[in-house]
Amino acid sequence: MRDDHTMRRTPERTDERIFTSDIFVRDDARPPRPDHGFWDEPAQRIPVYHRCDVLVVGGGPSGTAAAAAAAREGADVTLLERYNHLGGLSTGGLVIWIDRMTDWQGRLVIRGFAEELMDRLPPDAVAGPAPADWGSTDAAKAAYWTQRTAAYHGIVTWSPTIDPERLKLLSQELVIERGVKLVYHSWAARPIVEANGASPAVRGVVFESKEGRLAVMARVVVDATGDGDLFARAGAAFDNDIEAADIHHCMNTSWLFGGVDMNRWIEFRTREPQRFAAFMAQGRETCGLFERPFVSWRNDIALFMGPRQTGYSALDVDDLTLVEVRSHRAMQAHLEHYRAHAPGFEGAYMLLSAPQLGVRHARRLKGVDAVLRRRWPEGTPLPDEIGVTPAVSPKFPNISIPYGALVPVQLDGLLACGRHVSCDTSSHGFMREIPQCWITGQAAGVAAAHAVAQGVQPRHVDVRGVQRALLGQGVFLRSADGAASAPQAQAQAAR
Ligand SMILES: Cc1cc2nc3c(=O)[nH]c(=O)nc-3n(C[C@H](O)[C@H](O)[C@H](O)COP(=O)(O)OP(=O)(O)OC[C@H]3O[C@@H](n4cnc5c(N)ncnc54)[C@H](O)[C@@H]3O)c2cc1C
Repeated sequence: MRDDHTMRRTPERTDERIFTSDIFVRDDARPPRPDHGFWDEPAQRIPVYHRCDVLVVGGGPSGTAAAAAAAREGADVTLLERYNHLGGLSTGGLVIWIDRMTDWQGRLVIRGFAEELMDRLPPDAVAGPAPADWGSTDAAKAAYWTQRTAAYHGIVTWSPTIDPERLKLLSQELVIERGVKLVYHSWAARPIVEANGASPAVRGVVFESKEGRLAVMARVVVDATGDGDLFARAGAAFDNDIEAADIHHCMNTSWLFGGVDMNRWIEFRTREPQRFAAFMAQGRETCGLFERPFVSWRNDIALFMGPRQTGYSALDVDDLTLVEVRSHRAMQAHLEHYRAHAPGFEGAYMLLSAPQLGVRHARRLKGVDAVLRRRWPEGTPLPDEIGVTPAVSPKFPNISIPYGALVPVQLDGLLACGRHVSCDTSSHGFMREIPQCWITGQAAGVAAAHAVAQGVQPRHVDVRGVQRALLGQGVFLRSADGAASAPQAQAQAAR
């Protein structure tokens, strides 16, 4: 089956972005949806299912971190998720390659909740380099890990692959341990917004369930839906522009093939470059949409992130359907081609296509501050730093994430975290990654709990207190002079 998407190659890897890939531009523009008129929904009384301090909507990396962190600060927390598991795209989306948590010197800067998860996963559920090798520029080590998701620019990084089922289970047990009320199979449909003068305030959400429509009332709501469903419906300002040369706007369904031998595949790819190039050319010719596999946490399972498709909207049900249809067909076409021609894939079979569609970008909050490209070279900690992200390349220092990136310009009662935080298009390339989503989630959870305890809106919370609590939860922050915070300095000394 050949799919005739137009292929556009992204520019080679640059200091501004890590990922290079084929990007497939949609060629199936459909006519505008016919006007079928309206149906007026009658007003109805909705039972209040629960009342709590902090309601987190969306159980992806950011929402799970937010719920766990808020509960750790003593808040009464509810976590609402539309599917049957936690982890969002990192589990249900089969995005099992956790991007860099070390900086280019090998220092662990994504800590806190991220570190707790990594430490608690069973050893056979995580594949990646040992701490002693983080930051190594040893050519042999870098060459080995380059083929296994954990070296870029000749530097070994902590960017492991994980077993999605173990991460689902651990995430679930961790929030339950903390006393979070977990509610699966519940789709938040609309925020409950009170007109509050110039700044309206979110007071809860209405969700759809097998019981029908129910409401949860909360003092602070954390929007961790990834697509900004709640802040957008509550009227908060957002951006949705994209950087065309990046992949952050592409969508696709990831999948796993079982029965493979990834060591043999890597040997073929690295030792026979000409045969490999011919294989890729033939794959593009036969399949149209064509992708290379990544390693997973096991040698006998291959990860395909799925051919990256652009030009679709993550907020349009017809587009979402088209991307799913194309991705599932591509999975079948890839299986045939890889079984027939790829060393290590002779016995491959379709293990699983992701239950959650891979959406990297839909909306981004317009926050009181943002992570901005122009600040990348500065390296200075912002006064309201709530996390630190490694830069895209060794050319730049670590980048400060401000609390203001989580706070809407005008809406009260709500914080945002995860891939829809306030940032520009260039910075979205890394702010959407799983480690950064854990960081902003943990900060949103702590800030939401503190806002409730202090009886103030999130925008007025004592940021110093939030920073102290984050340090107490093991997050890496820096003091104003850029020095590592005390807990981090101790941890580094211990490594
Ligand atoms: C194909 C692909 C490849 C990627 N590759 C990498 C990679 O290699 N490394 C990396 O670190 N990152 C990667 N990413 C990015 C990363 O996976 C995501 O950006 C990250 O998971 C976002 O976390 P999140 O918590 O913001 O949102 P999500 O992971 O999207 O989680 C949102 C959760 O909210 C739930 N939800 C949404 N709306 C509602 C609602 N209305 N009611 C109730 N629940 C709701 C969803 O079901 C989901 O569980 C990739 C992403 C994609 C799509």
